[in-house]
Amino acid sequence: MRIGIIGGGAAGMAAAYELSLRGHSCQVFEIAPFLGGQASTFMIGNSPLERGYHHLFRSDQSMIDLMSELEIQDKLQWIDSNVGYFSSDRLWPFTSPFDLLKFKPLSFFDRVRLGITTLKLQRMKNWEDLESITAVEWLIKNLGERIYTIIFEPILRGKFGKYYDQITMAWLWNKFALRTASRGKGLLGRFKEQLGYPLGSFDVIFDSLKTKIQEAGGEVHTRSRIEKIRVVQNKATGLDISLENGKSEFREYDAILSTTPSYVFTQLVDGLSKEYVSKLTDKSYLSAVLVILVLDRPLMPHYWVYVGDRNMPFLGIIEHTNLIDSTNYGDQHIVYLTNYLEKEDRLYKLDSEQLLAEYLPHLKSINHDFNESWVLDYHLHKVDAAQPIVTINYRDKIPPHRTTIKGLYLANTTQIYPEDRGTNYSVRMGREVAGMIDSDFE
Ligand SMILES: Cc1cc2nc3c(=O)[nH]c(=O)nc-3n(C[C@H](O)[C@H](O)[C@H](O)COP(=O)(O)OP(=O)(O)OC[C@H]3O[C@@H](n4cnc5c(N)ncnc54)[C@H](O)[C@@H]3O)c2cc1C
Repeated sequence: MRIGIIGGGAAGMAAAYELSLRGHSCQVFEIAPFLGGQASTFMIGNSPLERGYHHLFRSDQSMIDLMSELEIQDKLQWIDSNVGYFSSDRLWPFTSPFDLLKFKPLSFFDRVRLGITTLKLQRMKNWEDLESITAVEWLIKNLGERIYTIIFEPILRGKFGKYYDQITMAWLWNKFALRTASRGKGLLGRFKEQLGYPLGSFDVIFDSLKTKIQEAGGEVHTRSRIEKIRVVQNKATGLDISLENGKSEFREYDAILSTTPSYVFTQLVDGLSKEYVSKLTDKSYLSAVLVILVLDRPLMPHYWVYVGDRNMPFLGIIEHTNLIDSTNYGDQHIVYLTNYLEKEDRLYKLDSEQLLAEYLPHLKSINHDFNESWVLDYHLHKVDAAQPIVTINYRDKIPPHRTTIKGLYLANTTQIYPEDRGTNYSVRMGREVAGMIDSDFE
């Protein structure tokens, strides 16, 4: 079968790889000049770095298995991580239960309460019970106003903006479950978290997938925009493509898989049922806005810092070179300042200089010695459709992968649930949908 795939991110590339293994001929079209989608990279000197911070969890089995299959498992390194929390004008270590006991913004009673509830959530298996309650309601009921306000409200507001009070508790539960899976076994293991990163960046995975798809006779095109999915008598027949050579072409396919965000998909195709379209159009996303600083020295002792103070204009600080050694980047230190924003947000509209002017003064609260002269270079990346808004009873709102048009499939991040979007789940979904396409046409 000839299969056209829209999008060269984790889902599209994994689907094309899986379909190639099953003997189909795949053609992937990616609008950007590079593969990898949200996990794509740019260059810092001679080294590729993700536009948005990326790592893997120990529980990311689909990605771990894929790397083994691609024979690049030796590139995957597991590194001890450590987390901090900025609150009450100071940076608090926040990795182990000991750190929690020393976290002064909460009373001793609240710290113990938070610790017990965290354990409870980490062990909970029946997340379905949490689906119909918002995280805000659940947290206030189970932890009280103070813990909610100090710890969780800033995280929810930062991550979901004006939607913060609509997010299902199932989403938050999953974050606890993931972090447990990334911890070691036994009592001592619980005090440590390990995160994974492919030596040479996530590019090594996309490059390897591209090679495998091409070796199987497939094609992978970048700078190639799908303009329209053609449909005849409710059957997808092919794609109108603006190719990298500037030419426009129609190509026929037996099946088509789109991995684009839902709002792009509705523009690409006519003739989907009303009910299906409403499942696509009721989805909202936030964009990730990332300022990446290249510093001449380290900023802080942690890999990841949650910013619990909403007076700070960003949600998180990720010092990538506290996970991956700075020698990989010419001894420079890399810090992401991250936000999830709506396109209408004032901060979204600022350019890199304006954002820098807003952000940099706050870094003195993170490190009193911080000085702007430490900044050797900076970059701004905006990743649209970065975070789907996961509201209560979300399961009922997910559009199926098989659309209402024969031979047309959808696999995008709004269909990942209860897990939060991530490369691992896009790989899993891409491969699952590939299996679905294969079995439909057998
Ligand atoms: C800031 C940030 C940090 C993240 N951190 C992590 C992390 O630490 N670990 C992790 O595992 N995941 C992380 N993720 C999530 C992860 O990157 C995504 O979930 C995953 O990469 C999504 O892959 P995808 O293929 O489903 O979608 P996408 O990567 O969005 O791929 C869809 C592709 O379709 C293309 N496209 C759109 N329209 C067209 C068209 N008309 N024609 C052709 N192509 C088109 C797009 O350009 C895009 O490349 C992070 C994401 C962000 C934004």
